Amino acid sequence: MPKTVLITGASRGIGAAAALAFGRQGWQVGVNYLHSKHQAEEVCLAVREAGGSAVPIRADISLPEEAGYLVETALSAFGGLDALVCNAGIALPQMLLTDVTDDQWRALFAADVDGVFYICRAALPHFVRQKAGSIVTLSSMWGQTGGSCEVAYSAAKGAVIAFTKALAKEVGPSHIRVNCVCPGVIQTDMNAHLSPDDLEALRQETPLERLGSPSDVAEAIYFLCSPQSRFVTGQILGVNGGMVI
Ligand code: NDP
Repeated sequence: MPKTVLITGASRGIGAAAALAFGRQGWQVGVNYLHSKHQAEEVCLAVREAGGSAVPIRADISLPEEAGYLVETALSAFGGLDALVCNAGIALPQMLLTDVTDDQWRALFAADVDGVFYICRAALPHFVRQKAGSIVTLSSMWGQTGGSCEVAYSAAKGAVIAFTKALAKEVGPSHIRVNCVCPGVIQTDMNAHLSPDDLEALRQETPLERLGSPSDVAEAIYFLCSPQSRFVTGQILGVNGGMVI
């Protein structure tokens, strides 16, 4: 019986690469998207070509009823769920904290923090019933260290780290593992605003002397959902080329 994973925000970037990584191992993948329907369908096609199966599922994870619908749809499409990757997220433009508006703060926390809560709360009863499951959350190196002009994003991603550690303790006795991946600078649409000079400066700051690709992060996510990490829980794994050690 193939294993099943639900990945939020899998239409682009890290989530899309993760879908492909699971597909190559023959997994069934729930490809969640919000706006990028066509891209989500392309990701599903690529997953099938790689040897897995996939369904696109539109849902806004920042809304509790849509997060619930997303989990229910994945469960009924595949008849089960072995892993959940809470990847969907947004970032604000770099700015001073004093320039962040109430609406920007709330939109960021809705997607990056509330979304993780809603989707985990919806999936956990299933994992608890089957006494197995793996959850991977996506934070950021800024959630670990704090970034100047990234205060709101750092706070949201710091919350994801604390959420992961606490939930790992709470659900460990049900044999559910919860781990967090903290990417460094990864070349996705989220960093499309950075100039070539900015990207070069970031590359030079990175001990491994390159920026990250979505597949660098995808492989770490896959590892944390696979049986190879069966004794790993509550851990915060930096995938950042050594930028934060
Ligand atoms: P992208 O901007 O490339 O993609 C974001 C994805 O999230 C899209 O698939 C988008 O869907 C989805 N999404 C956003 N909001 C929602 C929502 N409310 N409901 C459902 N889906 C949503 O991001 P990345 O791939 O770069 O980032 C993935 C994760 O990794 C994020 O949590 C991010 O914070 C984190 N991260 C990224 C870093 C980087 O350098 N890129 C560094 C550190 C952390 P759609 O397009 O369909 O609307």
